[in-house]
Formats: sequence, C-alpha cells, structure tokens
Amino acid sequence: MAASGARSGSTGQWNEGGHLVQSGPRAGITGPDDHNGEARRAGGVLTIDLNAIVENWRQLRDLSAPAECAAVVKADAYGLGAAIVAPALAAAGAKTFFVAQLTEALALRPLVPDARVAVLNGLLPGCEADYLDADIVPVLNDLGEIHRWRAAARRVGRPLPAFVHIDTGMSRLGLDRPGLDSLAADPTRLDGIANQGWMTHLAYADNRDHPMTPAQRDRFDAATARLPTAPRSLANSPGIFWGAQYTYDLTRPGCALYGVNPTPGAHNPMRNVIRLAGRIRQVRHVDAGDTVGYGAAHQMARPGKIATIAIGYADGYVRALSGSGHVVIGGHRAAVVGRVSMDLITADVSDIPEAVLEREDLAEVLGPDYPVDAAAANAGTIGYEILTALGDRYARRYVGGPTPEARL
Ligand SMILES: *Cc1c(COP(=O)(O)O)cnc(C)c1O
Repeated sequence: MAASGARSGSTGQWNEGGHLVQSGPRAGITGPDDHNGEARRAGGVLTIDLNAIVENWRQLRDLSAPAECAAVVKADAYGLGAAIVAPALAAAGAKTFFVAQLTEALALRPLVPDARVAVLNGLLPGCEADYLDADIVPVLNDLGEIHRWRAAARRVGRPLPAFVHIDTGMSRLGLDRPGLDSLAADPTRLDGIANQGWMTHLAYADNRDHPMTPAQRDRFDAATARLPTAPRSLANSPGIFWGAQYTYDLTRPGCALYGVNPTPGAHNPMRNVIRLAGRIRQVRHVDAGDTVGYGAAHQMARPGKIATIAIGYADGYVRALSGSGHVVIGGHRAAVVGRVSMDLITADVSDIPEAVLEREDLAEVLGPDYPVDAAAANAGTIGYEILTALGDRYARRYVGGPTPEARL
C-alpha cells in the first residue's frame, strides 16, 4: 500500500513495511488507489517516487566515486518535499545536504541528524548563532563572511566548519578576484575555520560544445593551487557527466535526483520521479468554429471534443504551456488548447476513443509519458522551473522509501 504525504512542514515516519506514514498539517490519505480521501477531493494527484530518487542518487554516487556525492535539496527538494526526500536519501547513505537558505537548513537539520547541512547562500549577518547552535555549515562567499565566521569561532573557542565558494565565471556568489588575491596573500584569514572544502559552480555544464566548463575547471585549479589544501567541489548534476576530471572530492547534484535530464540533447540517464495526474471535470462536444477559453485564443477547425482538467497556473502549470502543452489520457496524447486558466486547462481530445474518455477520470499532466523536460521545452523554460513551480493544491502521494542497500 502506498502512502500519501505532504510538503515540508509535516513529519513522516517509516513503518515496518518501509512506507512513509504521514502526519502533520497537510497529511494525506493512505489508500490503495488515487480515489480515496484527499486524492478524491483534489484537482490533481502528484505522485513522487522515492525509490526513483534514491536510485538516481546511487547512480550519481557511483559516477562520482571516489568523490563523495552530496544531495542538493534547496527549494523544498525542487518542489518535491525536502522533509521526505532528504531522510530517504540519508537512509540511502547521503552524508551532505545543500540548501539555499538558512531557514531551509533549520527546518532540515533535525530530519537528517547525522548529516552535514550546508547553506549555499552564505552566512547571513546577525544570524551566526543560528548556524552555530544548529550545527549548520555556511558556504562563505566573501571576505566579510569569512571574517564574521572566524570571529564566531574565536568567541566559542573552537574551529567552525564552512565551505568557501570561489567564483570562476558566474559573477553571482563566491570570492571575486580581489577577494581571492587577498585570501591567497594571507591564508591566516582562515584561522579558526575548519575548511570543509573549496567550492565553485559551473555556468554552462549543460552545453557540452561550449568551452566554458573546461575553462572554469582550469580557473578553479589555478585558484586552489594558491590556497591551503582542502577538499574541492565543482560539479552539479550536468557537471558529473563531464567525467572524472570534474568530480573532484565532492559533487553536488540537484536536478538529476529529481529526474531532470542532466545531459540535454542526449537520452535521459535518470529515472522518472514524478507523475502529476489532473482530474478531468468535463468532456464536451464542440463544433467547427467554436472557441476555447480566455481570449478565444483557440478556435476549433473541425467538430470535436474538449476535456477540461482541474489544474491551472495557480498549481504551477505555467501559462506558457497555453497551446503548446500535452496531456496523456489512457495512453493517448492530447494537445492543450486555449489559454491556461488559473484553475483549469483544456485539451483537444477529439481523437481519443469515447470508451477511453468514459473510463478515465485522470489525465497525466506530467510523468513518464510527458516528462518534465518535455513540458519545459514546450513552455520555453527548463525542467527546474517546472518542478519548483509545482503547487500546493495537489494531493501528494509518496511511494517507495528507504531500502537497505543489501536488499537491492
Ligand atoms: C542548485 C545548485 C546545485 C545543484 O545544481 P543542479 O544543476 O540542480 O544539479 C549545485 N551547486 C550550487 C552552488 C547550486 O546553486
């Protein structure tokens, strides 16, 4: 029996069968199918396959070895529920978790008690005690942050752990060139800091034909050669697929864990993780010339059938999928026509047999037959945005869970 669940903020416990039993404010229904309780009431059912996430992590871990493979669970594990995803990955052996915000780290900390939890966005001024008290590792992004963390270490009289980020081409976070020069000239600035590693972030690893990634690696090598020895970390998900020269000591995959293709243009090596099913509310016959939805943006060229599905842009179904998205009903593909509304989409189901439409009351809106990357391509965006936009109105159902490795 599968368990259903919630986003972070609720708590879960693994029962003897290895299934997640959910409790908390958004606790879902536990049932053998999608037609009970919360799932029956909701406009959409989002199923999240924890086994697929764990298998994806294991694949990335094996590709990263001998480097350690961390897990990036920022933005609520890319929308999939960090409070449930991170403990599943910890049970599979993940020892380091990266989030973006301090608030995310504070929420995650008690759920992965044995793991390192690091904050990519750095050491917030005036919050040093929060990192200290909760044993959270800041990624230090400039000399000021290094100075403040060192002062905190002096106050408590023991070394404090941190990663140090060096910018090699993002111009976003991390030490800039003058910062790097100052640190190289005076490494005692790091006294009192237990350096967990030098880190940098790739700008264009998803484009294999561009020289940016090797250039960043060379800059990272040159920078770290001027600094005290510490572990090094460079690769995000696409970076891991550049091979052994890019994995260094610690890799930081995010999107690939959640099934987004880390090798765009090539076959997706990751397992599909989510299935979003939207409830079909009506199927109607329309005549040639009838218009569909706001702005009369779609006009029927022939008589046919329109299905109305209870998911809209308020659920993260981006408006850019108006007239370009697809849904899959009983294995049959149908085009999303007309504009995406706040709470509804409309699909042209003229070519789907009547018997199928009578049988099915859910349409696959995202999933194995219409992957996140396909929706992203149709919307002119990236899979990351499709995932992190997923809304809160779905019934969430988690399947699978931590399995002792020996049993696999
Ligand atoms: C988000 C992020 C990652 C993970 O990137 P993916 O492309 O999702 O694998 C790794 N490192 C840093 C610094 C990040 O901001």
